[in-house]
Amino acid sequence: MSSWDQLRTELDLWQSEGRVATAWWRDDDAVTVTPELETLLGFEQDYNVPLALAVIPASLQDDLVERLVETIDTRVLQHGWAHQNNMPEGRKKQELDDIRDVDAVIADLKQGFAVLSSRFGNRFLPVIVPPWNRISDDVAAALHNIGICGLSTFNARKKPEPYKGVLQVNTHVDVIDWRGTRGFVGEDAALGAMIAHLSARRQGDVDPQEPTGILTHHLVHDAPTTQFLDNLFSMEHSALSWLRIPGVFPWQ
Ligand SMILES: [Zn+2]
Repeated sequence: MSSWDQLRTELDLWQSEGRVATAWWRDDDAVTVTPELETLLGFEQDYNVPLALAVIPASLQDDLVERLVETIDTRVLQHGWAHQNNMPEGRKKQELDDIRDVDAVIADLKQGFAVLSSRFGNRFLPVIVPPWNRISDDVAAALHNIGICGLSTFNARKKPEPYKGVLQVNTHVDVIDWRGTRGFVGEDAALGAMIAHLSARRQGDVDPQEPTGILTHHLVHDAPTTQFLDNLFSMEHSALSWLRIPGVFPWQ
């Protein structure tokens, strides 16, 4: 059976239980309009799959602000401050680190929050997407103090609200093979991750309420990645529902 058939089989099980397999889409590292980003905005429009764009505040260009005004459903999340690694050699990359004083990290995030809210208005949702999907506990615990009410990293969440006033909704399917080719991870791996999360939700092994998140990085998409996303977003199944981004973070 192909991976696509396996995905359909999993969705059939959701349907037979009268349940809706909710999913959402996050794309990281946006600062300006590129042909690769236009391709994704085209998918959003053509297939009606709402896009959450994680924007790096310190590098934001005017053209991105102007372009997103023309979109219907694209929402902006905050991708750290400058996507800068603050960890020493030998430790995993992290911008929202535990090396600096927590107040210094929070000051950066506050600055980024101000940039995105003033440039994007209501299109910006107060959700932090930590660069490299990593954030120190102390920083995460302080997010609520500066008006951040959402957090998105990678892997099934342990709790919906791991820090006071902060709703966590993660992604679970990474389409890029970062440790290998840095190209498309392949249909079997991508769909395998999607099926694994859906199946674990259905069986109650992970939080069933957390929508299954697809993670993309438009700047590095090769042709096979783009083709895969085209196939995924154009796939129709009555049990599969792509959430609007305010519905992913429904506190508003
Ligand atoms: Zn990033």
